Amino acid sequence: MRVLLHACCGPCLLEPYDVLSADAEVAVCYANPNIAPAAEYERRRDTLLAYAGDEGIEVVELPYAPERWAAAVAGTEGDRAGRCRACYELRIGMVATEAAARGYDAVATTLAVSPYQDPGAIREAGEAACSAAGVRFIAADFRDRYPDATRRSRELGMYRQNYCGCLPSEAEAAAEREERRAARKASRAAARSEPSRDSGDGA
Ligand code: SF4
Repeated sequence: MRVLLHACCGPCLLEPYDVLSADAEVAVCYANPNIAPAAEYERRRDTLLAYAGDEGIEVVELPYAPERWAAAVAGTEGDRAGRCRACYELRIGMVATEAAARGYDAVATTLAVSPYQDPGAIREAGEAACSAAGVRFIAADFRDRYPDATRRSRELGMYRQNYCGCLPSEAEAAAEREERRAARKASRAAARSEPSRDSGDGA
């Protein structure tokens, strides 16, 4: 079987590629018009290409067209789940069309290794996009391999981004980090203000 594997970045490629290539001929497709700004798109791509080059993995890069992503997610403002579904469908759809044109049998995505993505929505989007293109969607769930992907990407010194890809996700990730910082600060302050257990209870 020949599989065209959609890859969002180098760290997420590691484990899905190893799993799939054990039983299939796998090439990688970098199709990510969601990533912004362009310098971030290029940094993730170059990280992936460096690893693929070292490992002899074939990579197809589809043209960077952020306007396609903007059109796909139009109308999802304030609806993060809807935005991500549209984003999955666009990206997997681009890969499915490419796979059909190049004679691949099936498509899979490295998004399925990330615990930050929605596996149900990935499956639905993947099946719809692949069915329209006439190729099979491999609805694998690689999330149990995420710790290995994290460890290996650190050992390899890969660039590891701290937001999903689109500009709204960059703002959301920054806000979530700030919330966690504030919660840790509040918890430390509460611990400092607690009376000592052995002060005055006679124990
Ligand atoms: S958060 Fe990630 S999956 Fe969701 S729309 Fe943005 S780039 Fe796409």
